[in-house]
Amino acid sequence: MNNKRFKTLSGYWSNISPVKEGKKNHNFAEGHIQTGMNQEEKVLFFFQKPNTTSAAYENALTACREKKSSLVSGLSEDSEGCFLTCRTTEIKPKAVIFERRKSSNETTDLNAIVNNDVDGILNDDTVTITGRIFKLHNQTIIKKFDSTKQSKIDKVCRGGVIANETGALIIMLWENLAKEIVENDNITLKHMRKMVDANGITFFSSTFRTEFTKSTTELSNYDEEGAQELFDVKVQLFKETVCVVESVVVDINTVCPRCKTKCTSDERIVTCSNSACGASFKRKTNSIRADITARDDKNECLYLTAYQDVLGESAGEIDKDTIIDFFMDNDDKFKIMYHFRSKVIEKIQSN
Ligand SMILES: [Zn+2]
Repeated sequence: MNNKRFKTLSGYWSNISPVKEGKKNHNFAEGHIQTGMNQEEKVLFFFQKPNTTSAAYENALTACREKKSSLVSGLSEDSEGCFLTCRTTEIKPKAVIFERRKSSNETTDLNAIVNNDVDGILNDDTVTITGRIFKLHNQTIIKKFDSTKQSKIDKVCRGGVIANETGALIIMLWENLAKEIVENDNITLKHMRKMVDANGITFFSSTFRTEFTKSTTELSNYDEEGAQELFDVKVQLFKETVCVVESVVVDINTVCPRCKTKCTSDERIVTCSNSACGASFKRKTNSIRADITARDDKNECLYLTAYQDVLGESAGEIDKDTIIDFFMDNDDKFKIMYHFRSKVIEKIQSN
């Protein structure tokens, strides 16, 4: 199809998730493709229920396993910058001019991992950590925005410390890992992501691609003192700040009744953004987001995003004018709590 709306990517698959059950008409899977020396894009695969596979997905899995490069055609890009597959998406072998990025070596030196002395550790979810789970904090439930579902969902989270004879480091486990890993497990965690919290503390978070293997060999010699010290450190995933809002852009998302593409429009009559569909329909608010530019008390500029739930709680009504008035019609300072990494606002209070 010769249509500029459809995009093409080429590169190496760094990973592809198993198929997950979607809430509505589709199941989905998530993949990452390395499209340049230091570039990676996220691709979402969709499968009309009850399907749990497609030719494109199978081709991607094969290319990923064989470490061969692919050409992916027939993608569309969503507002978050993810690439979405559709029925016409094709994945074929294709040579590229850059090299496939390699994962970090399986070092067991935890100090080297914290201090970046391992090749390829930056910007990667490729950190491998081996050690004994020293202690874990209690499980907590955090509402996190999920770009696949376009809403906040509950995620189980559990922080703790892992140690071996070379040192100790802080880990943050999510979802099934938070439930399945217990204290004193001797374990290898693959594909952990290095992160820094709101106070500059380094920790290692599990991601959807993290895998773990438990070992039966008891690791009795480990840095207990260092581990205890880290266990007393509190990782702050959220940051609270008092700020003045400088500008706000409100987007109303409406869904095309014909092809279900998400469209953003200010007009009362919307033309579908999927030009292959081109339907015109009356705007209906399916979801709303506000992109906010603010200055905190240190005069630092913040770019934050609030979604429907938070906007409803703070502004009252979910319409564009009310939301803009709420932020702009007075000299209020706002107390805003946001997720440190995603910059998604959790709570807004006006003074
Ligand atoms: Zn449409």
